[in-house]
Amino acid sequence: MPDRTAFLRDRLEELRSQGLYNTIRHLQGPQGPWLDVDGRRVLNFCSNNYLGLANHPRLVAAAHTALERFGVGPGAVRTIAGTLTLHDQLEERLARFKGVPAAISLQSGFVANLGTIAALVGEGDAVISDELNHASIVDGVRLTKAARSIYRHADPADLERAIREARAGGARQVLVITDGVFSMDGDVAPLDAIVAVAEPHEALVMVDDAHGEGVLGRGGRGIVDHFGLHGRVDVEVGTMSKAFGVMGGYVAGSEVLVEWLRQRARPFLFSSAVTAADVAACLAAVDLLEESTELVDRLWDNARRFKEMMSAAGFDIGVSTTPITPVMLGEAALAQQVSGRLFDEEAVFAQAIGFPTVPRGKARIRVMVSAAHSLEDLERGAAAFTRVARDLGLVP
Ligand SMILES: *Cc1c(COP(=O)(O)O)cnc(C)c1O
Repeated sequence: MPDRTAFLRDRLEELRSQGLYNTIRHLQGPQGPWLDVDGRRVLNFCSNNYLGLANHPRLVAAAHTALERFGVGPGAVRTIAGTLTLHDQLEERLARFKGVPAAISLQSGFVANLGTIAALVGEGDAVISDELNHASIVDGVRLTKAARSIYRHADPADLERAIREARAGGARQVLVITDGVFSMDGDVAPLDAIVAVAEPHEALVMVDDAHGEGVLGRGGRGIVDHFGLHGRVDVEVGTMSKAFGVMGGYVAGSEVLVEWLRQRARPFLFSSAVTAADVAACLAAVDLLEESTELVDRLWDNARRFKEMMSAAGFDIGVSTTPITPVMLGEAALAQQVSGRLFDEEAVFAQAIGFPTVPRGKARIRVMVSAAHSLEDLERGAAAFTRVARDLGLVP
């Protein structure tokens, strides 16, 4: 039989030659500040496990208990096979945590964006999206028949232009969508200004809080809390896979929004829900966040310290105002080289990120500091970066 997939070999070769080929490391143990990767113990600067909850004993215990009681599989989608009381509990708890009337749990943050946008707007409507929004928003926008436009990154004036154009074109609903924290740069959307621009035009505002919850706001309640915008943001999308340390996604907002999504969000109707063990672990994560701000405070302390060390060493760490620390390197091949040497020579696992995740020529190593890192870990990491970068003549 002829190999009709052979053309993909050339494409892969192209990726390799451009330094854009992703090497995936193999983990032999749980997430944490240190990892067992490809047979070695390495310092972990890669994961979105902001608060160190991915292997927290209370989450693991909660998952165990749920596993015993509810088993492993959901049987079918929730609209057909019924919904676990655990899912109901998580939705109530998330709504309370976010300070909104209701929430709906979905399989992932990616899926939450895919399902929500097309459920809210269609033909005759308009959707307006920040140019640097996450891939799951970009794909979600592709699934709607609404007219689409893009506004310049984090630019409320350009957003206003786009809203006026949509209104002038006769759009019924206008939906504005932004990431809360932009995951590759670590900058925060000017949500207060976005809301101020959207309100007079009666545009809906949707924010993806994937890198904001567990990080921004009081005790990690997210970007809406950070800006004090309760009741003024219509749709909040979230993930349970980052600061919450588990798996799953959700949408939070008004009762009617959530009721509509239960009827019309296609991933809710056509894909099974996250398992009982996942949901129980998520509930334990919400418990922990509500009990204390200690982990969130430590995350910010650690991030501030690491950034100080990297700036002092002469690195360009971009425009981040959150714990995300991009070490800007320029060409993808250079970022891959630095990342490879950090791993091989220094036992530091810090992944290079290039096009299409970030624009060409803006490749970087994105360091993700967590609450679980010790000061010694951070010092060791910064020293490793400095040794490799000095050797390459990148810093003095
Ligand atoms: C990570 C991320 C997602 C996807 O979340 P998952 O739950 O991992 O699917 C969606 N949006 C943004 C902005 C993200 O950073």
